[in-house]
Amino acid sequence: MGKMIDELHDSASKGQLDLVLMIIESSKQKSVINAQNDQGWTALMFAARNGRVNVADALIKKGCDVDLMTKSGQTAVDIAQFWNHSSIVTLITSDSNNSNIPCQLSTVVTYFGKNPLDRCSAMRDNQEWIEKELHQASTKYILFHKLNPFVLYQDNKYEICPISYKDISFLLMGDPKPVYIFLGLGCLDLSNTNGERNAWFALDVSTLEEERVLKFSKKAEILSSKNKYAIMGFDEIQAGVIAQCKSLLTWHLRYKFCPTCGSVTNIAEAGYKRICANKDCISLQGIHNTSYPRLDPVVIMLVISPDKQQCLLGRQKTFPPGLFSCLAGFMEPGETIEDAVRREVMEESGIKVDKVQYHTCQPWPMPMQLMIGCLAYATSNYIKVDQNELEAARWFPKKEIMDILTGHGLNSGAAFSLPPKQAIAYQLIKTFVGTSSNL
Ligand code: ZN
Ligand code: MG
Repeated sequence: MGKMIDELHDSASKGQLDLVLMIIESSKQKSVINAQNDQGWTALMFAARNGRVNVADALIKKGCDVDLMTKSGQTAVDIAQFWNHSSIVTLITSDSNNSNIPCQLSTVVTYFGKNPLDRCSAMRDNQEWIEKELHQASTKYILFHKLNPFVLYQDNKYEICPISYKDISFLLMGDPKPVYIFLGLGCLDLSNTNGERNAWFALDVSTLEEERVLKFSKKAEILSSKNKYAIMGFDEIQAGVIAQCKSLLTWHLRYKFCPTCGSVTNIAEAGYKRICANKDCISLQGIHNTSYPRLDPVVIMLVISPDKQQCLLGRQKTFPPGLFSCLAGFMEPGETIEDAVRREVMEESGIKVDKVQYHTCQPWPMPMQLMIGCLAYATSNYIKVDQNELEAARWFPKKEIMDILTGHGLNSGAAFSLPPKQAIAYQLIKTFVGTSSNL
């Protein structure tokens, strides 16, 4: 399949219409027309990049998805506009199938958002199966010491240091048992390309001395919690699993007692449930959210000015010097995502927001949020900063943002910086400048 897609993209770039049609028609998979390469590029984008009007026309007539985006958030229209192929822009924008949503970004995967494991959630209450997997020679454990993962550091990246059952069996046979969480089946090894699947567990080894933990592997270390950003130093293949572990382990650490009656609780379902030990507790009657891992939704939004040429960024007092980012806030019970966005923007900046568009989301394991990324369209300009929440907020023209993103701003000694690319805020900001026609 991969080779066929490469050929399709290549022929679309070169404008070889016959070849493009032949590949699409000979493929058994209907989806080949929308196939994306590593960078998220489709055949239509390659045609748009190179001004191949005939190929673009044929792809659109064959019903290709014109709203797909590259990993950096550009649609085929953006690409055609950027390279000045106006006839392709017209072709795509006049297509009747085109829903014309400027940022339908279902293809963007945020950092912490990619988790290659099959969670096998239906197997969690099968204790016999879980026990069997715990003991398998192929099973791998990710150790956490006081919520900090046991990791290797190589090639400027942190990497999970997988530990086998035989090395930690003394812990699992001990009493009390340490907290373990079944993460799923799959492959997390960055160099393993043969796709071998094995079970992965997170294991809390906080009862051991740090020195003892270090003995599990000579080359590994316990990730320091002093550096807040260290957790963003994993390859994205592993980052999602680290997020899964950290959020669940934090839940076990902070919610040891029954929120309903205060009794002790026991861990069940391989780490995804806590059951109250008090037989009379109401939480045992029916299903109650107090028994399950907590997840806190947060809205994070890029506010776009009424003239669409500027975006609103703010500074929290705790940010590193110069850093500006999107506004954000916790959702409240009984509130829609849209209303939470409008309320938070109004509270923090005094700006009125009308239309809100969902963009993409990101699991954020500090400790267990789901960041819901939105674009918010302002109907007013005058900023009134809420000093309790923000230190500053202001409108940033597209050009200023572009200079920072392309590094020109840094060279010119810019007075502000943007969040790192691992943050969803960065993706939102990038979408705003990326969908511009005058890049
Ligand atoms: Zn209880
Ligand atoms: Mg707030």
